[in-house]
Amino acid sequence: MKGAVGAKTWRLEPETEFRLEVDFDQKVTVTLLEGLAEIFGTELALGVPYVFSGRKIAVFTWQGYGTPSVDYVAEETPMTSYLNTHVALDQMRQAAAMQGGNGPRVLLLGPPDVGKTTLAKILLSYAIRQQHQPLYVNLDPTEGSITMPRSLSATSLTHMLDVEEEFGSSATTAASLGSSIIPISYFYGHASPADNTKLYKILTSNLASAVRGKMAQDADARSSGIVIDGPGLVDSVGYEIIAHTMKEFEVNVVIVLGHERLFSDMVKNHSQQSDISVIKLSKSGGVVERDSEYREKLESREIHDYFYGTSRFELSPYSLLVNFDDLAIYQIGQSNMAPSSALPIGMDRHITETQITKIEPSYSLSHSILGLSNAERDEEAHLVSSNLAGFVYVSAVDEIKRKVTILSPAPGRLPKKYLIMGSFKWLEP
Ligand code: ATP
Repeated sequence: MKGAVGAKTWRLEPETEFRLEVDFDQKVTVTLLEGLAEIFGTELALGVPYVFSGRKIAVFTWQGYGTPSVDYVAEETPMTSYLNTHVALDQMRQAAAMQGGNGPRVLLLGPPDVGKTTLAKILLSYAIRQQHQPLYVNLDPTEGSITMPRSLSATSLTHMLDVEEEFGSSATTAASLGSSIIPISYFYGHASPADNTKLYKILTSNLASAVRGKMAQDADARSSGIVIDGPGLVDSVGYEIIAHTMKEFEVNVVIVLGHERLFSDMVKNHSQQSDISVIKLSKSGGVVERDSEYREKLESREIHDYFYGTSRFELSPYSLLVNFDDLAIYQIGQSNMAPSSALPIGMDRHITETQITKIEPSYSLSHSILGLSNAERDEEAHLVSSNLAGFVYVSAVDEIKRKVTILSPAPGRLPKKYLIMGSFKWLEP
């Protein structure tokens, strides 16, 4: 591969990668001039300038081009082991297609910043390149991926991931408003599964049931299987969630990245189940730890892109003025609650983890991201189990005029009656 970065041209040898970190206030253009190369599994088109901002990426080549590599080019990458994993998954997909059965249900595990999402992209892209249509499930509420941060989602991937937009939250905004089937998302509303474990587990079960429905109807999705990006929790709550996720999604391939103890615990826990494979893969030397400032910027950009799109796919959100009395906003449970099981015997909790509370509009709503529920009634079980049509943003609250200004991807009235609130705020830049 030969490419140009800014004013520089780089040559890559086979199986090496060129790593780039671009700040949010910078733009770097990468153009592939000769050969073949990919970014996290998606091939670059020859001669097309790709623009990156606020991204940490690796341009990888299997084939390479010509003469020796130069600085900043990493020769040690775990890409061969990732490709071998893909080959094994592909064999499972082919067997499933022939027998009409389910393809692999893969769960990616490991602490934060080990490259779980990146590996998910690589495995999904390789599957798509071989004409499969895998389902991508995001159970990491810190990342929006295909919709909005703080939500849990599943989507059927039929096209290659975009090199610049990755999962492309903006591109799915319109689709998610028009379609309640796929991508499907549930608003969890909090950053960590530990904030409301019971709700997190209920939503995971709902998502798994939607995925089962999709797989039952669609033979291609069924044989292609699922790739699940797990949350980065490796404590006791994390283990409880892993066990729950494995049961609900009938996971049969567990991939552990960058955590020895988690790997040996997974091997131990599933040693009796011959139908479950537990694989350990190395963390890439290129995975970058993201500090809280970087993560905040990333989250802010994901939210911005949801409403406004990106430079390639611009969206124009609408500003709606809604009367306090026309809003039905609910909070589900509370964040940071100890689970009911942790309360002293005999003590009852006033608010349970899934109890719904109607929120009276006030200034405290300002800057909240709210989920637009597909629910038709405000009964607890129905509201908790309903998925989302999309999201809106509360840009201003006027307590005197009793009106709320709402930023919505759709014009006219609010497209749904019930709104769900979490502990999720955004300061529009
Ligand atoms: P979390 O659980 O916290 O979401 P994660 O385990 O999913 O993290 P990733 O999001 O995949 O980790 O990776 C962390 C960062 O490292 C990302 O910005 C990603 O683009 C970057 N990264 C991953 N692999 C490479 C690589 N080979 N070269 C350069 N950057 C990389």
